[in-house]
Amino acid sequence: MLSAVKRMTELELSGKRVVIREDLNAPIKDGQITSDKRLRAALRTIQFAVERDARVILLSHLGRPAEGASDRAFSLEPVADRLSQLLTSPVMFVKDWLGGIEVEPGSVALCENVRFETGEKANDEVLARRMAALCEIFVMDAFATAHRSQASTCGIARYAPVACAGPLLIRELDALSKVLENPARPLVAVIGGAKVSSKLSVLSALAGKVDQLIVGGGIANTLLAATGIDVGRSLIEPGRLDYCKSLLAGKFGAASIPLPTDVVVANGLERDTHGTIKLTRDLTNDDMIFDIGPETAAGYCDYIDRAGTILWNGPMGVFEHPEFVHGTRRMAEAIAAGKAFSVAGGGDTLAAVEQFGVGEAISYISTGGGAFLDFIEGKELPAVAVLKERA
Ligand code: ADP
Ligand code: MG
Repeated sequence: MLSAVKRMTELELSGKRVVIREDLNAPIKDGQITSDKRLRAALRTIQFAVERDARVILLSHLGRPAEGASDRAFSLEPVADRLSQLLTSPVMFVKDWLGGIEVEPGSVALCENVRFETGEKANDEVLARRMAALCEIFVMDAFATAHRSQASTCGIARYAPVACAGPLLIRELDALSKVLENPARPLVAVIGGAKVSSKLSVLSALAGKVDQLIVGGGIANTLLAATGIDVGRSLIEPGRLDYCKSLLAGKFGAASIPLPTDVVVANGLERDTHGTIKLTRDLTNDDMIFDIGPETAAGYCDYIDRAGTILWNGPMGVFEHPEFVHGTRRMAEAIAAGKAFSVAGGGDTLAAVEQFGVGEAISYISTGGGAFLDFIEGKELPAVAVLKERA
């Protein structure tokens, strides 16, 4: 399938205006970048284009600002500064860019947050055409946004004179396809976190592909609720209980879905809060589940130990809080210690991987969260689909 797209590395870039869509959505706190992982991931692509004397114009989003206005809190300006350091040459930051910008060959400009532009999310044609007019070659390199049909990921690729895939995007797609083509069995998916509704939807597709589905976070809570357990005030998706019942009844596939037998509960997430371990059958209507319990973690780790391949997205609990870190930590350490080929993706999942220092022991770290899930579900990523049409 990847042979079906044009590749940036095969094109003549010298002197050309090359717009590269990267994911430079770095976490920023008080104007400071707290992790430059995503910038480092994009570095090789940018350097490749610079070395070939392209006029490089970078597009990215940052955070989730309201469309139609600029907002300092979501400005990419700190990213331009950090990129300048990483590239050891100045990156020009451009606030007003839609009308066109001048860049010298071998130089780099970073445009302000694409999500300040009205129509970005809706993939508005007028906006996409204006973005496309900036370039002679459009390079899609942001795997983590490839599942979104937006102006800077899809529309621009449709209207640019040439549209191709960047090396980072290709590397991600290659690695994930290899895992999914012929995975060593048992194939285990570990799904947790707080984006409950979108992740629940992925489970029906996974149930027909994987041998075990291991669940934590709000996903586990909702499945528990579907079995009739009172999960109190825990995070769940109340509208999906019937769907969860069908899933547990095997209607979508034969994957086994072991559910937590014990959990860690509390009244809230204050810093000094204490977690209490409870059997799920003893839960009451004012409990809030913030982690899987030790018995559940031990059972889950047995599956991890026996796995041939592990796909991991989403923490088992509120790992940012010391009282609720144990479930996620035990899973991360088991995945790292085991011999299975392991792939992890998702913003918070990667933060957990970093926090526990297990990054080196995970076989492949994907920059995508939603895109990673859509890909393993077998969906065509819209931004990749356009590249194929334009090949
Ligand atoms: P990812 O970014 O890896 O895809 P999500 O964004 O879906 O993961 O979810 C991550 C968040 O889920 C974390 O911030 C964590 O605190 C939260 N979380 C995990 N378990 C629970 C739970 N039981 N109740 C509420 N929040 C939870
Ligand atoms: Mg997240």
